[in-house]
This record gives sequence, structure tokens and C-alpha cells, in this order.
Amino acid sequence: MTGLSTDEAARRLAANGRNELAQAEAKSPVWLLLGQFNSPVIWLLLGACAVSAVLREVADAVAIGTIVVINGVVGFLQEYRAERSLKALQSMTAPRARVLRGGALQVVPAAEVVVGDVLALEAGDLVAADAHLLEAHALKVAEAALTGESEAVDKSTDPVPEGAPLAERHDQVFMGTAVATGVAQAEVTGTGMQTELGRIAHLLANTQSQATPLQARLASLGRVLLLLCLGIVAVVVALGLWHGLPLLEVLLSGVSLAVAAVPEGLPAVVTIALALGVQRMVQRNVLVRRLHSVETLGSATVVCTDKTGTLTTGQMAVRELWGPDHQVLLDAAAACCDAELGPDGRTGVGDPTEVAILAAAAQHGIARAALEAERPRVEVTPFDSVRKCMSVWRADQVLYVKGAPEVIVALGTSGTDKVLAAAEQFAARGLRVLAVARGRTRDEKDLEVLGLVAMADPPRSEAIAAVAAARQAGITTVMITGDSLKTATAIAREMGILQLRDDPATVVHARASPEDKLRIVKEWKSQGAIVAMTGDGVNDAPALREAHIGIAMGRGGTEVTREASDMVLTDDNFASIIAAVAEGRAIFANIRKTVLYLLIGNFGELLVMLATSVMGVPLPLLPLHLLWVNLVTDGLPALALVVDPPDGDVMKARPRPPDEPLIGRREWVAITLTGLVEAGTVLAVYLLALPAVPLDKARTLAFTTLVFAELFRAFAARSPTRLFWETGVFSNLKLLGVIVLSMAVQLGLCFVPATEALFGVTTLTPLELLHTVGASLIPTTLLELSKLVRRLWSGGRAA
Ligand code: ATP
Repeated sequence: MTGLSTDEAARRLAANGRNELAQAEAKSPVWLLLGQFNSPVIWLLLGACAVSAVLREVADAVAIGTIVVINGVVGFLQEYRAERSLKALQSMTAPRARVLRGGALQVVPAAEVVVGDVLALEAGDLVAADAHLLEAHALKVAEAALTGESEAVDKSTDPVPEGAPLAERHDQVFMGTAVATGVAQAEVTGTGMQTELGRIAHLLANTQSQATPLQARLASLGRVLLLLCLGIVAVVVALGLWHGLPLLEVLLSGVSLAVAAVPEGLPAVVTIALALGVQRMVQRNVLVRRLHSVETLGSATVVCTDKTGTLTTGQMAVRELWGPDHQVLLDAAAACCDAELGPDGRTGVGDPTEVAILAAAAQHGIARAALEAERPRVEVTPFDSVRKCMSVWRADQVLYVKGAPEVIVALGTSGTDKVLAAAEQFAARGLRVLAVARGRTRDEKDLEVLGLVAMADPPRSEAIAAVAAARQAGITTVMITGDSLKTATAIAREMGILQLRDDPATVVHARASPEDKLRIVKEWKSQGAIVAMTGDGVNDAPALREAHIGIAMGRGGTEVTREASDMVLTDDNFASIIAAVAEGRAIFANIRKTVLYLLIGNFGELLVMLATSVMGVPLPLLPLHLLWVNLVTDGLPALALVVDPPDGDVMKARPRPPDEPLIGRREWVAITLTGLVEAGTVLAVYLLALPAVPLDKARTLAFTTLVFAELFRAFAARSPTRLFWETGVFSNLKLLGVIVLSMAVQLGLCFVPATEALFGVTTLTPLELLHTVGASLIPTTLLELSKLVRRLWSGGRAA
């Protein structure tokens, strides 16, 4: 059988379309752009624009309008980019299918499967299209997606009468169902909407990513702030009217206040942080399938991981043979293998355990091809992680069996104790041990045990470092393996998973089955842990779903586990999980510090405006100044802060409780105190200058002090504990660039006649400039001092 040629497949794909279910239209860019203006904050600004126009403050009106438009466009670009990168990510994790094309087996995106393709199916595959079975061995398929029946049904090539109901068409497999056991080949009869699934699916619900919990929480914080500031505005307007001030003037100060209090940049921050964080994770070999898992990751307290191939390299090599005749032993072992050895005689395709066996056999002059020619196989009972053994019945009327020693010995006739003792000794050295046997009947009983094959699967060195990093970060690594307890314990010790104080029963689970995985997740969860769990086999899906963060293997894993997972490891490496946790924590820390940075600025501005309107002095900052600060000189540093490289400290703290608020009590205290200091500084500059200089000069001084104070504070905002030079002045070049640029633009504003007129500012003398710069350093200096004091207080622990 050769399948379609590649050209023919391409032609059919072009003619008949992709093998996809129709989806509701995604949001078009136009809607995305319009969506930028659909926020209460923007309406408020447009209101401010209108009020300014009515007051004949044309320059203000135009400027506010321009800023609103720029803000909309920047927001659109950011969101568009974020959305596109998430889309790209989705296509990376799209299902794949194995098809026979031009005589060779190929892995193609499931969407490119066409009618006439020959699908190769095995346990753990998702069936990519409707297909008619050409060949099937022990095939069972779970069709719940289609029929609702949760038991897997038997399939065979026996013909079924035309027009039989779906559930009885045993000679067909259907798109979206999952292969539970067995292997098969099937010819595709329908793709895309022409499948049974397509017929019932009609239009799938829009797959737009939902807001993550953090996004939702931030949106509600935004709403609270908006209401709060509208309340304050109402009070100020009422006060003004009561004092007998003209309505329009009162309205203007009300609008200024509102503009001051609302952090315009807030919503964009989370979207960008998540999208860029997810991109960084891709570079670290982690594909995020569900965005919310990024947030959960930072809170993970327990990582349950497979051993073979994840903690270890998975490149196995036979180290020891045990038995009376090594030649016979290896011959029987090789006769019971599915894998294929490559031309280099070391690597190959298929189960690494079997590749190692075939490599050792080849060294003893036993070739798989010759073996197949002499004694073709008749029946295979494949390996599965529950039975932990496998057998092949061949034409020479011999059953070749291999598997976990205690399983094989239990089926054997003699030598039990000696075999198990030898196996124990190998296992104590961390070796993976298989027993090999043969029998005279097709069923696995009365076996003659031929001996043991022991192989090494060395730990990945980066995984050892990752286990240590996890421990320091308060994360428990739990090893779950199908290997024996002795082997698992030896490796766990070597890798630092099991240390003196640890209870072996909690961190090492040996001879585990997929049901054990589910039980282990549930147990940890019942103790309040936040659990990440890896899986690759078809039966791991329930455990992945149950875990807070289900992690599928990208290389070794099956489609079914990928489908059930929140994230996929493209290199199957444990170290990547811990890197992703660090990334998850960094994302949260970045969002928190950026939100804090913005809120402090807004609170400071609000206080300045509130104080001056209560004192009855002219407002020191015009609405346009506030907008400028919020959108430009605060907004740009915020965009750079939210992509700050991870702080070395993120993996030194304990996991963050999942329900810990973004802005907790500690943060509110910081907002209040720093806001007070900043407002005090700006007010002092303004009020000291006011009697001596014209109003526009005093305003310029206040405005410049505020902008500079905010820009300096961005450096201090990078870490709640580290001093700004400790975070590395050059470690975030974007931030440095944005700050230098903003300072230059700000100075430019006060020296170019056109912008002077627009912003109502005047030129500053060098001495005045010096004063403003000096004053604007006060809040940052106090912030840094407070970090030092806290550090001394806590005994220099943070140092
Ligand atoms: P994990 O990937 O979860 O760490 P594992 O890969 O070590 O688990 P399994 O593959 O389930 O665990 O293997 C369990 C035991 O089954 C092994 O210790 C070995 O004795 C036996 N075994 C493994 N692979 C095969 C195979 N291909 N044929 C027969 N027996 C096998």
C-alpha cells in the first residue's frame, strides 16, 4: 500500500478545502480597532474633549482628541499583535495525523488530510477524518465525542451492511474520536464538514480566548476606580457650584480630576504581559494551549512528572545482561520488539526501551530483518503501561515475552527468587530492568524465563538543576514512573528529588498506572496543593484534566494527551517546566509592579488636583498635562516595565497563593504613601513658585516635576526589594530608552514655541530646571530608602 502521492494530496487539498470544521468568524481588525474606543475611560476623554471645545479651548480639544486616537491605535496594534501571536501558537499545537503518502509514513497537520489518504492509527491518536478501515488489530475507539458512549468500541474490517446506524458501523472510524488501543490503517472517506462530526457540529462556538482570571480581576479593578473617580468628580463639581464658581469652569476641573484618576494604560498591560510571556515560553520549549494556565503556573506548589524521557534523557543503553545464555536472551528480546533500529545501530524509531534492546542485539549479531524473514510475526499483544509486559507470537510457534520482572516471573515456571534478586540488584543501581521469557502457547502462561536485560537511562543534567531550583522555589517535585521502586528511588536520590528529610512515599511513585496518576493528583489537591502533572500516554488524559496545569509531551506524547493539556513541552524536558513556572511568576510580578506603578502615579495626580481645588488655588495641571502623563510619560514606561526580564529573585520566594489579590493590603499602603509623597513634592514646587512667578511658569514647574518624578520612579518600580542599580540599569534597555526619550521630549515641549502654546507651558531657566529635577528625585529616593530600611529591618535577608 502506498497511499496518495504528495502531488495528488496537494491537488485534492486545493480542490476540496482543508479538513476543518467551520468556525464562527473571528473578530475582524475593524472591530478590534473600534473596540478600543468602547471603554468608559475613552468616553470620559471624549467628554473632556467636548467640554474643552465648548469652552473654546480649541487647542485642548484637538490635543485630547489626538491623544485619544493615538491611544486607540497603539492599543489596537498591541492587541492585534498579541492576538496574532496567540493564533500562531494555536496552530503550533494543532492536531497532527500520520498518513501514508507515496509509500512513506508522514506526519502532517490534521487539517491537510484529504479524501483517499491512508491514515495510520495507534493508541492515543485522535482520528483526523472519517475513514474506512483497511486493516485493524485489536482496535478500540472511544467515540464519546460523537455518540456520547463512553466505553471504547471494538472496530474491525468485517463489513457492515449499508445504512447501519453510526454506533454500529464497526468498519469505520470517525473524525474527533480517539484510538484507545490497537493499531489500524484506514482510507479517508470524508473530511471537514463532510464528516459525521461536521454534520452535527454546524458552527462551532467562536474559539475566541476567554479573559483569564487576572484580566477579569483587573477589569473589575478598573471599573471600581472609574466609579470612585466619578464620585470624587461629583463631589468636586458640587463643591465648586456651592462656592458659586461658573459651571463650565467647575466642569473643567471635574474632568481634569477624572482624567487624573483613571489609569488609561491599565487594560493593555495584562494582554501584553501575557502575550509576550507566552512568546518567551515558546523559546523555552513550552507551548501554552490555555492562557489561564500561565497565571496558575506561578502558583504551582507540586510538579508531578514522568521519569523516563522527562527527568532522564530517554536515550537508553543496555548495560547488563543476566541469564545462562546471553545470545538466546537477546534473540528472544529482539523478537518481542516493535521499534526499528536506525542505520547507525544506536538510535531508531519507536519505544526507546526497545531501540536499546535492538542495539544490544545487533552488537551480538542478531538482526531484526533476518529474524522477521525467518520467523514472521503472527500476533502481537502490545506493551501497555498497565500490564507492563508485551508478547509476540511468531511463525516458529513460540511466544516471545518481555516485561517488568515481577510480572514475567509470575507467569513463569521456575527460578523466581533468583531472577527477582538479580533484578533488585540492577534496580538499586538505577537501572531499568526487563525480564525476557518464551512460551509454547499463544497465551502468556507457563513461560520459560530466559534472563534479564538492564539498561541505563541517565538523568538530564539540566533536570537536576531544575529540581534544585524548584526546591528553592518551594515547589515539590514528585516522580511518577512505571519503573520499579528500587530503580525509581535510586534515580530520585541521584537527582535530588528524594533527600534525607523527604518521605519517599510522597515524592516517588513507582510501578504507577494511569489511574494512580489520577489518584495522586486528587490527593495533592485535597491537601490544597496547586498541581502540575505531565503525561504522554493515551490513559494520562484524565489525570491531566484533573490537574490544575496539565502538561503534555510534544515529542513522545499522543494527540489525546495534547488535547487534554493546558501546555505542551516541545522538548519533553523537566527543566522546561520549571523555566515555565519561573516565567509564570515573572509575568505576574511584572503585571503587579506595572499596575502599581500606574496606580501610584494616578493617585498622586488625583491628590494634587483634589488639594488645589479644595484650597481654591488655580489648578496646577491642565487636563492635557494629565493625559500626557498618563498616556505618554507613564504609559510608555509601563509598556517597558511589563516586559521586564525575570528578576533573579522570582524563584527564591514561595509560590504565591492562587487567590492572593494583585493589589493587596501591602500594595495599597505603598500606593497611598508614595502617592502622598509625590503629590506633596509637586504641590510644594507649585505653591512655592506661585507667589513669585506667573501662573504658566508655576504650571510648567509642576508639570515638569511630575513627569520627571514619574520617569525616575519607573526605575525604582522594577523591584519591590532590589535597589535600582541592583536590578541592573542596562538590563531593560527598552525602559532606559523610553525614559531617556520621554525626558528629551518633555524638555522639548517646554522649549519649542508651538508645543509651548499647545500645552500652555513656558521656557525654564537652567536653574529652574535644576530645581525641578532635584525635587522630582525625592519620591524615588524615599522609595529606595524604604527598601533599604526594610532590608535592614529583616536582618539583611534580601541582600
Ligand atoms: P514513565 O515514562 O512514567 O517514567 P516508564 O516509561 O518508566 O514510565 P513504562 O514505560 O510504563 O514506565 O514501563 C514500566 C515497566 O514496564 C518498565 O520498568 C519495564 O520493566 C517494562 N517495560 C517498559 N517498556 C517495555 C516494553 N516495550 N516491553 C515490555 N516491557 C516494557
